[in-house]
Amino acid sequence: MRSAPRPPTPTKGARGKLARFLNVRGDELVLCSGTTFAINLVAYSWALPRLKAGDTILVSRMEHHANIVPWQLVAERTGATIKVAGIREDGTLDLDALHAAMTGDVKLLALTHTSNVLGTVNPAREICREARKRGIVTVIDGSQAVPHRKVDIAAIGCDFYALTGHKMCGPTGTGALWARREHLQAMPPFIGGGEMIKEVSFDGTVFNDPPHKFEAGTPNIAGFVGLGAAVDYLDALGMANVEAREAELLAHATEELDKVEGLRIFGRAPEKAAVVSFLVEGAHAHDLATLLDLEGVAVRSGQHCAHPLLQWYGVAATLRASFAFYNTHDEVDRFVAALQKVRKLLG
Ligand SMILES: *Cc1c(COP(=O)(O)O)cnc(C)c1O
Repeated sequence: MRSAPRPPTPTKGARGKLARFLNVRGDELVLCSGTTFAINLVAYSWALPRLKAGDTILVSRMEHHANIVPWQLVAERTGATIKVAGIREDGTLDLDALHAAMTGDVKLLALTHTSNVLGTVNPAREICREARKRGIVTVIDGSQAVPHRKVDIAAIGCDFYALTGHKMCGPTGTGALWARREHLQAMPPFIGGGEMIKEVSFDGTVFNDPPHKFEAGTPNIAGFVGLGAAVDYLDALGMANVEAREAELLAHATEELDKVEGLRIFGRAPEKAAVVSFLVEGAHAHDLATLLDLEGVAVRSGQHCAHPLLQWYGVAATLRASFAFYNTHDEVDRFVAALQKVRKLLG
């Protein structure tokens, strides 16, 4: 049966807002549940039908599990191999090594724009230009970039860009995948069902145009209305203001934390988002986090969904203090004072 002409989808507003915010076309933006889904969509619809034994997927040492495990699943099923680009002690990518690793067998590069552990902001534009010269398709994980600075996806020149709504003041269960039009047209759908079709019969199905082809089922309408509101909010603040404010908080926090005896910071990239991963000599990360919590300070302790990165640094866990535009200088000071207090209890 041919489906009746539909009124504009309820997610149209959010799609348009997000597209303007990221400087891309709305019809190249697939709305989905977040970065994990977005990257899996690339893995199952783009990579799985194309890659074969002898091909290589290049990732970096600082990836979130969401940008590692889907590629391992693809590698297992296609016979492709995963190659890991190294980082330096300060948490920056070794760009010469990365470019040298872009050999003829590499078909795909999956790289985070900003590390959720180290804060490192990778020069995505330069890296994508090098990859493109060599015919390597690029997937950028923008989960931690979009909330903290102005991201112009068109200027980056990648093939795919993934983001997640709940990291950018939006509701959980929202996010998007931006993809070049030619990829969206060539890719088979990943999930089948309603909304993603034009016509269905038992002789066959005509799929809807992208991006709808990849948005089967009733959309998360409430969630995307919320994401649209989040984009309006960030837009009104101005991402340049968000970035400047967070840079100032990071500089202050780093200066103060460097005064704490025995404290080691993981990640000192010159281009860095406002997260500080650290350990204090002689104190377990989880113990410190628990004591800080009792002082009213919320930090995260653990592996931050980045086991391979922590393995490389040779530590079981770190603490991570994350700052955003709504934090204050005074909160940084109270955090450091609380840390000085509780480390004495453990030391
Ligand atoms: C949070 C995060 C993800 C995963 O996002 P989900 O919303 O859980 O899909 C991936 N990469 C980075 C860098 C993240 O910070």
